[in-house]
Amino acid sequence: MEDKIQLLKEKLHEIDDINSAVSLLSWDQSTYMPSGGAPARGRQMATLSKIAHEKFTSAEIGNLLDSLQSFSEENDSDDAVLVRVTTKDFEKATKIPAQFLADFNVHISQSHQAWMEARPNNDFAKVAPFLEKTIDFSRQLASFWEHDHIADPLIDMADEGMKAESIQKIFGELRAELVPLVKAISEKEKTDDSVLKKHYPEQTQLDFGLKVIKEYGYDFVRGRQDKTHHPFMTKFSIGDVRITTRTKENDLSEALFSTLHESGHAMYEQGINASFEGSPLAGGTSAGVHESQSRLWENLVGRSRGFWSHFYPQLQDTFSEQLNGVSADEFYRAINKVEPSLIRTDADEVTYNLHVMIRFDLELALLEGKLSVKDLPEAWHARYQSDLGVQAPSDVDGVLQDIHWYAGSVGGSFQGYTLGNIMSALFFDEAVKAHSEIPSQIASGEFETLHGWLKENIYQHGRKYTADELIEKVTGGPLTITPYINYLKTKYGDLYSLS
Ligand code: ZN
Repeated sequence: MEDKIQLLKEKLHEIDDINSAVSLLSWDQSTYMPSGGAPARGRQMATLSKIAHEKFTSAEIGNLLDSLQSFSEENDSDDAVLVRVTTKDFEKATKIPAQFLADFNVHISQSHQAWMEARPNNDFAKVAPFLEKTIDFSRQLASFWEHDHIADPLIDMADEGMKAESIQKIFGELRAELVPLVKAISEKEKTDDSVLKKHYPEQTQLDFGLKVIKEYGYDFVRGRQDKTHHPFMTKFSIGDVRITTRTKENDLSEALFSTLHESGHAMYEQGINASFEGSPLAGGTSAGVHESQSRLWENLVGRSRGFWSHFYPQLQDTFSEQLNGVSADEFYRAINKVEPSLIRTDADEVTYNLHVMIRFDLELALLEGKLSVKDLPEAWHARYQSDLGVQAPSDVDGVLQDIHWYAGSVGGSFQGYTLGNIMSALFFDEAVKAHSEIPSQIASGEFETLHGWLKENIYQHGRKYTADELIEKVTGGPLTITPYINYLKTKYGDLYSLS
């Protein structure tokens, strides 16, 4: 048995090496590659991905997993869990016919290209035929698994164990709390956040963000930050987890909060048990849990009053001209301004989830065949009007704004953002229950206790537990919105003097 486990680990490590090389090529493509490299880079990544897929779905891996089944069922060791998780991944990977995957990938790269051309020209008609085909592909992809709802297998790929029905239930509860909260806030005086829109030189912004995440505990010996168009985190090994950011010299919040956000994703990956290296256990366990870690450091810590009571004097020193005469309280209000808006990625903490829910509902309607692609732009505008009270002047700020439906399947790609928000408060609450000194430590710029708790309870486990198992293990119960709603109501009730 030992020999077989060892052999399985070696084979999986080889596959991980290939996939990590793909990630490195992709990181380079988004950071330093000259544009002339694009055609060859696409091909290089496709070639390596194909080799990795063939190796993983090979009879050799299948036989090894088969011979280890009884071991995995009787045993709760890390090795047994590795066999169980790898078997699940193997079944997923082998259920999708190779030809389907090849056709889907070709289609997606064409669709992505069409979107990049259509978006600046506000030309939804150009991408509509691609999107119709993507919906067909997505339905077909889902049909490889048994399901209650056609979206379930697609949701399961990102957030294992979740279903359309369970998400609709939790989103329904959240929505019932958020809509009145947004309404109450919009009846109050608008926050002035013009202080954030002054001129802030790029390098100084970058330096400040790096200083903060160093104090958070992001390990620069095992990471670095570079510039890109759309910020992301990527990992080549537990010893090399990188983040990217983008700056706007007329918007202080852009780079700063994206850096705090991505550092949360990265600390999760840096904190995984080193013995999982190179195996399927060495990753975040779900889209929702991953997002909970980024949101925790970005929002619950990075947009808190305590955090800024420590960092604001330093920020004010750094940007003495821009922040001259601006109090810590005014600054805190500016970075927590709530205002219904058109763009999801720019949305504040309170309205953000309404953007996600709109997309989630539209995805379900598209997959169910209840909404046709030609009616999608209007359906989008109608929901923004009814849910947020805003009207996009065009589809650029409407249905064309997010890359997701044009560069991947329709279904399963948005719910993780809101699940992450809900879980961020759930986990933070548990950390504070275990260590009541955490809030006062944050207010003195000390993050070791919080980081240590997260490492112990979340990070180290990688994919050893599913999201549901992890939540149960950490909180003793199932996923609930209560801590998140309490967090929002307390924070914004105070900010906007709500009764
Ligand atoms: Zn994120």
